[in-house]
Amino acid sequence: MRKSVLFLLARLGIVLLLSATLQSCATNPVTGKSEFMLMSKNQEIALGQQSDPSIIASFGLYQDENIQAFIDAKGQEMAKVSHRPELKYEFKVLDSPVVNAFALPGGYVYFTRGILAHFNNEAEFAGVLGHEIGHITARHSAKQYSRQMLAQVGLIAGMVLSEDFRQYADIAQTGLGLLFLKYGRDAESQSDRLGVEYSTRIGYDAREMAGFFNTLKRLSDQGGSGIPTFLSTHPDPADRFEKVSRESRVWQSKVPEHQFDVNRNDYLKMIDGLIYGEDPRQGYVEGNTFYHPELKFLFPIPGGWQTANMASQVQMAPEDGKAVIMLTLSGEKSLNAAADAMLQQYQLTQLNRQNERVNGLSAISLTAEQASQDAQQVIRALAYLIEYDGRIYQFMGLAYQQDFNAYSGRFKQTMEGFRQLTDASKMNVKPEKVKIVRIDRNTTLQDALKAQGIASSRYEELAILNGMQLGDNLSKGMLIKVVAK
Ligand SMILES: [Zn+2]
Repeated sequence: MRKSVLFLLARLGIVLLLSATLQSCATNPVTGKSEFMLMSKNQEIALGQQSDPSIIASFGLYQDENIQAFIDAKGQEMAKVSHRPELKYEFKVLDSPVVNAFALPGGYVYFTRGILAHFNNEAEFAGVLGHEIGHITARHSAKQYSRQMLAQVGLIAGMVLSEDFRQYADIAQTGLGLLFLKYGRDAESQSDRLGVEYSTRIGYDAREMAGFFNTLKRLSDQGGSGIPTFLSTHPDPADRFEKVSRESRVWQSKVPEHQFDVNRNDYLKMIDGLIYGEDPRQGYVEGNTFYHPELKFLFPIPGGWQTANMASQVQMAPEDGKAVIMLTLSGEKSLNAAADAMLQQYQLTQLNRQNERVNGLSAISLTAEQASQDAQQVIRALAYLIEYDGRIYQFMGLAYQQDFNAYSGRFKQTMEGFRQLTDASKMNVKPEKVKIVRIDRNTTLQDALKAQGIASSRYEELAILNGMQLGDNLSKGMLIKVVAK
């Protein structure tokens, strides 16, 4: 699956190379300095606009009107005091448990529900918001794409997949790869500074942002829910903490009449009920089986393959990346129409089509091929279209022709293993939620967690979630986070 990163970048490369402004020096809005940039302002905006739907398709939006209204209000307020107030900004919450926030060129900023669960006040959120807006105003992504593009140009000649397969690859890339774009240490430091400046300007205490770095460090030390990009580019969080604290004092002294807000309780009340961790209702893997409780189906996954469950599709691939199985929903009304649409969409030439029964369900299987323009590599596909519960499920297994026989058995096993899910124990799954509770006496965090019935194996996880140590004292009336179904 990692290969797909290269396909997307190579495609970006083609787009950019064909455009008229092959090389241009642009003035950086933050530094005012002139710098080498392959991307114009319009191209930045276009790239953001093109990538946004893939991001949404990969993760889905998290539906919570209050949270959405809050991040949008703060985002727009901050954008106005930034170095590029003229851009049209959009702020979105993604339905992902991974702890992350990121920006696309042109004005798109995303927070996962995972990072929102880990903030402990509005000021921490505002600091990260400012950091991400900083990547946009200082044009870091644009520079990043320019740099990566130069590195990828040599790969374009070797491209074998058609445009349509690369569109599929785009989704894999934006879903899994883009989050881990590294901007480099200088860019991250500059964004930290901008985060301090912007959050101070809208009245928040930017020192809290420094505190959030500790949360990120503890999460990455623990290894669990994804390494935040924040940290991966900053090997020394202590140094970063120091710098941000210092810059916060400098910025605060510039506006001495201000009072700087933290707003802990308001923030905690807002996220009460936020889904925490994986949401098993949207599908989960247990053993070598994928279960979807809401759509009520299951199918086996080839042993040792990795699975990516995204909003619009499930993908499975072996370690060597030589094959992939995708499951999507067809928009067509009949099996034959769905098969025809699939052949057309992926520019496949059909080799064989036949009617099947898959565990009592009507289905069509087909094999097809796709030759690349230079005909050096042929991709072979095995597809099963299965009608179930008013929907048409579309499995497609892909491999290069020379590898196809090695994988076709596993393709078949997975696709023919699709069936109705009836086991109540697999269907009755509920996600955990963040629950805000008020402490009724003076105590320590550990005792409070114990009193709330939290398993001791999760004390450390919850200490991190609360941005505290287990031995920290809590006073009566204080709010803390616990998790509950
Ligand atoms: Zn960053």
